[in-house]
Amino acid sequence: MRTVLHSDLNNCFASIESIAHPEYRKIPFAVGGDEELRHGIILAKNECAKKYGIKTGEPLLSARQKCPELTVVKPNFELYDTYCSAVRQMYSDYTDQVEAFGMDECWLDVTGSASLFGSGRSIAEEIRRRVKKEFDLTVSIGVSFNKVFAKLGSDYKKPDAVTEITPENYREIVWPLAVEDLLFVGRATKAKLNRIGVRTIGDLANTSENFLATLLGKNGVMLYQYANGRDASPVRSLSEADVIKSIGNSTTPPRDMQNEQDVNVIFHMLAEQVCRRLRSHALKCSVVQIHLRSNELTTMERQMHLKSPTDLSDTVCATAMELLREHYRFALPLRSVGIRAAELSEADRPVQLTIYGDEEKEDKLRKIEMAKDAIIRKYGKESIRRAVLLTDKTLLPQREVSAPTSVFRSH
Ligand SMILES: [Mg+2]
Repeated sequence: MRTVLHSDLNNCFASIESIAHPEYRKIPFAVGGDEELRHGIILAKNECAKKYGIKTGEPLLSARQKCPELTVVKPNFELYDTYCSAVRQMYSDYTDQVEAFGMDECWLDVTGSASLFGSGRSIAEEIRRRVKKEFDLTVSIGVSFNKVFAKLGSDYKKPDAVTEITPENYREIVWPLAVEDLLFVGRATKAKLNRIGVRTIGDLANTSENFLATLLGKNGVMLYQYANGRDASPVRSLSEADVIKSIGNSTTPPRDMQNEQDVNVIFHMLAEQVCRRLRSHALKCSVVQIHLRSNELTTMERQMHLKSPTDLSDTVCATAMELLREHYRFALPLRSVGIRAAELSEADRPVQLTIYGDEEKEDKLRKIEMAKDAIIRKYGKESIRRAVLLTDKTLLPQREVSAPTSVFRSH
């Protein structure tokens, strides 16, 4: 039997906006189209706005009638994509079979991950906790033996919840649900099914398959199978859908960085995060880029090719520092900095050995870093830290990553 998770970020756009604007959490708040143009709709709303009966897809005008004090902001899709990509990256810590469904939903096939990470439910609980801790967002997750029921599970209880649908309990949980809750039952199909008295998924499951085939064609057979827990469609792997082009993190520390030593502390932190992610995807980078933003918000980007591909934070950090020394004179303090690893290749691709014999040292360092990955995975980010990160606590951000960024190349 397969174990499939469906993870859905709750109130995604509204939640992401609330990270930068915590004051939105307490008031009715929505992300929506242009109000002045009078054709805007609600794209996402927070829990508070939900209480006024405001619905996603509803015209702004009618939402305003329900709640005149509703705060509406225009969507920032680039920002949402940044977060959603970073969350997807995190999912791929557990399996390489991660299939995106829209921007903020994913299926994960974790059938083969049980020996490493435990049961489907325990993986789901860990993901739920990590999303909260690492991104300040919540997910609802369905755990089941196929994709259709996993999706129903993530819809079943929100926010911040896990629902497991098993071969033993699906009749109790799934069958009482309205038939239109089933994936691919649209408005027209719902109307046809309602007309023959099929109102719940259970009704659908107990209708004759032949009759449904006559009524709805091939679609009818498919829906009948779905309602009875027979969905064999596979979870596509991330590598089939997207190829990771680069991995980067940036941060804005609580105070501006005045000199090289300050930046060194932050670069160490960022290089570790970036390399941890490289290793989790079994990738190495051949290019290191740095991004600098001064306190007057001028920005600069510089990059350097490495002699050989790496996934080691010492090498990435040293390269970033070299770029900084080469290109920045601290005429202005720095507000934020970032590191990006680019020109990625698979880590196990053989490389030409150099005559200098650095490989042995590299190998040792990699073993140390991988041991640290394991400790962090088990005990959390705070459990192990480089001494350099403890030298100046005024620089360390409350939340380590202010803008997790990954760039996906789509086909
Ligand atoms: Mg969602």
